[in-house]
Amino acid sequence: MPPSPADLADLAGASSTTPLTTEAGTAVDTEATTPRPASRRDRPTTLYDLTPAQLEKRVLALGEKTWRATQILDWVYDKKVTNYEEMANVPGALRAKLTDTLPFATMVLEREAITDNGDTAKMLYRTFDGQFVETVLMLYRDRATVCVSCQVGCAVGCAFCATGIGGLMRNLTAGEMVQQTVDAARRASELGRPLTNLVMMGMGEPLQNYVDTMRFIGIIHDPRAMNFGARRITISTSGIVPRIDALALEPYQVNLAVSLHAPDDELRSRLVPINRRYPIAELMAACDRYIAATGRRISFEYALMNGINNSDEIARALGRLLHGRLCHVNIIPFNPVEMLDFERPDPAGIERFAEILRSMGIPTTVRYSRGVEIAAACGQLRAQHERGLDGGQRTEQRTGMRSPTIPLAHVS
Ligand code: SAH
Ligand code: SF4
Repeated sequence: MPPSPADLADLAGASSTTPLTTEAGTAVDTEATTPRPASRRDRPTTLYDLTPAQLEKRVLALGEKTWRATQILDWVYDKKVTNYEEMANVPGALRAKLTDTLPFATMVLEREAITDNGDTAKMLYRTFDGQFVETVLMLYRDRATVCVSCQVGCAVGCAFCATGIGGLMRNLTAGEMVQQTVDAARRASELGRPLTNLVMMGMGEPLQNYVDTMRFIGIIHDPRAMNFGARRITISTSGIVPRIDALALEPYQVNLAVSLHAPDDELRSRLVPINRRYPIAELMAACDRYIAATGRRISFEYALMNGINNSDEIARALGRLLHGRLCHVNIIPFNPVEMLDFERPDPAGIERFAEILRSMGIPTTVRYSRGVEIAAACGQLRAQHERGLDGGQRTEQRTGMRSPTIPLAHVS
């Protein structure tokens, strides 16, 4: 369905404050202060948190036959219903028991912004504990990709990233990630498209929320649940070395993207502070082990910032660092972030950087921004929320989301 004029107006000005389809249907209280995130213990387990085997156990414990779980899974992951009521062939008594004991989902879709003639949709969710999370669905000619968030904020604090500005609020649960994915798949199918790819390039560092991220992948990958192919999933990391090693041992054949952004420790430590803990030599050694163990190519992401990491000399140093590795470089021209002073190089400068890498034998792609307006609109959405939440004053930006234009070619 093409976007309505209201959608586009919303994008352009983000002036409407009408929340979209919400199960609970509650609007945000803009007069309240941003609540503290709930502790792990207080985060409810939802239907989306359960593996098919766990759902069978639940159903059994409620006095029903295990095959009822298969019916429920079909409603959730195939028909993609949003509540128990719609599960027509599940007995009313079981539906009632499930409603009482197992919430269907906890996140409420607060806003949706659409751009690119309806090809990019950005969802802003409110979690049960009042945090804000963003998910992006991008439709391309040959694929539809969802960009999933795994944390509210991020502890890594990269110098150029909006998400890291306020630090980490909390990890998202596997169920909250599953909900983002199923909602995006439903949205894509409403637009007549199957969801084909998933990138963990939203808010947060997936390898610092390792357990729930793996659990999430396990659920969506499970043939009895969403049956989403692991090779169509990309995990992006700032370089958490021990977890790269752990990932190589996982049974899922997911793709790995490593956010490099600089070829030397001095510069990388300034841009990606985790580099002080896991410097480039250790990171590259982990990448080599990963490639050796999995036989899979790594994508290196490189956010190009004018006057920071885009000189010819740096391009050559990057080429030397990556030479001989089974890899690919994705250059992401810097996406402007409110409150941060970095700027993107001009198109000729971006191409020149890419060309130097190519001339050194490094496969390189430039990911030009798509849907820049929507990133701006969503920044406004969040900023509006933040301003509303503190009574009209500008507040620290707690959560962020880069443009949905991060490198995607490697997952096509
Ligand atoms: N935490 C993970 C995944 C989320 S960030 C990671 O850092 O890899 C996804 C990608 O967007 C990363 O490569 C990140 O460095 C990049 N990114 C963040 N802010 C950006 C910005 N303002 N402009 C361009 N790329 C950005
Ligand atoms: Fe965290 Fe990734 Fe942003 Fe760095 S770029 S602050 S690791 S989300």
